[in-house]
Amino acid sequence: MHLKDTEDHISFRAAARAWLSENVPAGPAPRDGAASRQYALDWVAKCHSGGWSGIGWPADYGGRGLGPDKLVIWYEEYVRARAPSVHDCTFVALNHAGPTLIACGTEEQKAFHLPQILEGRSIWCQGFSEPNAGSDLASLSTTGVVDGDDLVVNGQKIWTSFADIADYQELLIRTEPGSKRHKGLSWVICDMKSPGITVRPIRNMAGTVHFAEVFYDDVRIPLSSVVGGLHNGWATAMTTLGFERKTAAMGMQLDLSVRLEDLIAMAAPKPGSAMAERLADLRAEAAALRAITYRTLFRDQANPSEGSLMRLRFAELAREISETAMECLGAEALADSDWSHLYLESFSETIAGGTAEIQRNIIAERLLGLPREKRA
Ligand SMILES: Cc1cc2nc3c(=O)[nH]c(=O)nc-3n(C[C@H](O)[C@H](O)[C@H](O)COP(=O)(O)OP(=O)(O)OC[C@H]3O[C@@H](n4cnc5c(N)ncnc54)[C@H](O)[C@@H]3O)c2cc1C
Repeated sequence: MHLKDTEDHISFRAAARAWLSENVPAGPAPRDGAASRQYALDWVAKCHSGGWSGIGWPADYGGRGLGPDKLVIWYEEYVRARAPSVHDCTFVALNHAGPTLIACGTEEQKAFHLPQILEGRSIWCQGFSEPNAGSDLASLSTTGVVDGDDLVVNGQKIWTSFADIADYQELLIRTEPGSKRHKGLSWVICDMKSPGITVRPIRNMAGTVHFAEVFYDDVRIPLSSVVGGLHNGWATAMTTLGFERKTAAMGMQLDLSVRLEDLIAMAAPKPGSAMAERLADLRAEAAALRAITYRTLFRDQANPSEGSLMRLRFAELAREISETAMECLGAEALADSDWSHLYLESFSETIAGGTAEIQRNIIAERLLGLPREKRA
């Protein structure tokens, strides 16, 4: 799909390109830990001082209120300039915690948190998944009991990305004693420095600390930190997931196209060879994914489940591109390189943000209208 730029788009693209070319940091980003936190915060602060932080947020809350057309241009220029990954530790704050606060938060919550996020002063993480509540999020059991002006939280979360370096967490807990499934939950802002929180980092097979287990032992969270109403957390969580799966995914997809072009340059396949054909197929797949994404973004009333279509294809393509890179590298793939790191990380793509099986269920039931699966 080719989107024709208007005069306004052309000057916006030129401004984005000029700013990025002068400001994108040189050299690779640290992979994890305190150094990656500082690197990411410095980058957001730089974007903010240049007027490029949270540009899709409403102007009333410090953004520029840009529509999908300009966001697409920004992300195209962003990945072209090889700017820091959009999927780093600032992703949650900028792409779904901030927008959730704008949609459902109180004026006090917005006034306190939104400037910190936009100016690169706080990192957020998402505390939804539990050991027995991943795909089936509604079965979560971490509790928050009202005690005076506080909730007293006990339980455990797992797979919390960036919990070890985060300042705040979007935490989903069961606040109505005896409630079941989607009822009686609350979405609360949890200060990660609260007494009673223990973060136990998990090192993944790529050798990186990406996520952690988080334990809550009588953690007191003020009731003023509930977002979207006490016991109404499911609705707030669905708002969050809606943001997570929409424009936020665009930067990741465009980034994948750049990765693929790098691979094609590295492989330099002989015309007509099996590898040339495979890379051509991957390029066509990436273009198709991009077209589906643009179509969804620019349609007035897209079916929210189309996010699953994009997410599933993105995750599978990311794995296929990394696998192909390993084949091209041959024995060199055993060395620690950006490609081998990406390959090891790529296995998580079909799990994070909802597994491939769950995305297929959503596509089957809500897009294709197939019969619903029998619930256990
Ligand atoms: C890199 C990464 C980062 C993550 N970051 C976060 C984070 O920041 N915050 C957070 O809260 N969570 C995070 N997660 C957790 C993620 O959301 C869960 O891992 C995911 O939802 C799957 O849940 P689970 O691991 O409990 O697997 P399970 O739900 O136990 O699933 C196990 C297997 O059974 C299959 N399955 C389950 N139910 C069905 C069904 N109904 N039909 C067909 N198949 C089914 C699944 O597809 C899967 O293959 C992250 C995960 C990864 C890998």
